[in-house]
Amino acid sequence: SQKGKYPERMAFYNLNLEHNLHRKIMLNEALKCALERQELRLVYQPIVDSAGQIVSFEALLRWHYQDQEISPVEFIPLLEQSGRIVEIGSWVLEEACKMLVTLRQGHAEICMCVNISLIQFYDKDFVNNVKQVIEQQAIPGHLLHLEVTESIFQSEQMQVNHKVSQLQKCGVKFSVDDFGTGYSSLSVIQNMNIDYIKIDRSFIQHIENKGLSIVQAVMDMSKTLNFRVIAEGVETETQRHMLEQCGIPYMQGYFFSRPMERQDALAYLGDASHKSE
Ligand code: C2E
Ligand code: MG
Ligand code: MG
Ligand code: MG
Repeated sequence: SQKGKYPERMAFYNLNLEHNLHRKIMLNEALKCALERQELRLVYQPIVDSAGQIVSFEALLRWHYQDQEISPVEFIPLLEQSGRIVEIGSWVLEEACKMLVTLRQGHAEICMCVNISLIQFYDKDFVNNVKQVIEQQAIPGHLLHLEVTESIFQSEQMQVNHKVSQLQKCGVKFSVDDFGTGYSSLSVIQNMNIDYIKIDRSFIQHIENKGLSIVQAVMDMSKTLNFRVIAEGVETETQRHMLEQCGIPYMQGYFFSRPMERQDALAYLGDASHKSE
């Protein structure tokens, strides 16, 4: 009977909640020593231009914990909640810049894209931290691209603008990641001095129908608002072709390459440059 089923479903629901909570607590605890136990590493996914040449790599964080790969979609929010993203984010920045130094041997103008969490961006030492890393690694600022999400622009616009422009003075570029999924109004984008916009994967996935008009609109905006467009999550030749028709200058996605381990990324860049010679 219906009466019989209901408590059962409740019990199941509670069990799930309990399981999730338990996992969260467990992962949170394990994250405290993930860095010192060397469980964290970066993988690198290329971004290509319209000629198919690699122009940059995006650094993506990986956590190997007890024979499992935990997704950043799961652990980044935990790091944000505990505030530990500030320390880890700083480690990511340094690690990515060290990789950039290596990549530049033979590819002097290649860029490195680093994801920056909102919490990290708002930290009072953020600007100094970035400056320090590029100085220590002796990297030209324009080769470092910081990926932020639209959410950072929801806060005090003066302060956000100030931070962005302080780093832009050192040459550092800013990209808006996952564009189109956040809450920012077009006027916010208009007032921001942003260098790149990465159109979210969801629009690329649906480019064969309603995603196309969004892609075209962002492309039109880019001309008057002076930013460059990157399409993320390109998986098929059809998508690549349609984006090319729209005039999208930069693309990233499994169609070109999955994120790669450090050594594989270095080899991949080496191979790619031989092919083009
Ligand atoms: P994101 O910055 O938007 O990165 C793109 C995500 O999409 C990556 O997932 C990438 O592996 C995946 N991806 C790339 N191409 C394709 C494709 O063609 N198809 C599909 N289905 N997926 C594709 P990943 O590595 O799991 O990272 C997820 C998110 O976690 C990132 O999204 C970013 O927001 C966050 N994240 C990763 N590393 C860091 C980090 O070092 N710091 C911070 N703050 N966030 C990070
Ligand atoms: Mg990103
Ligand atoms: Mg993205
Ligand atoms: Mg994304």
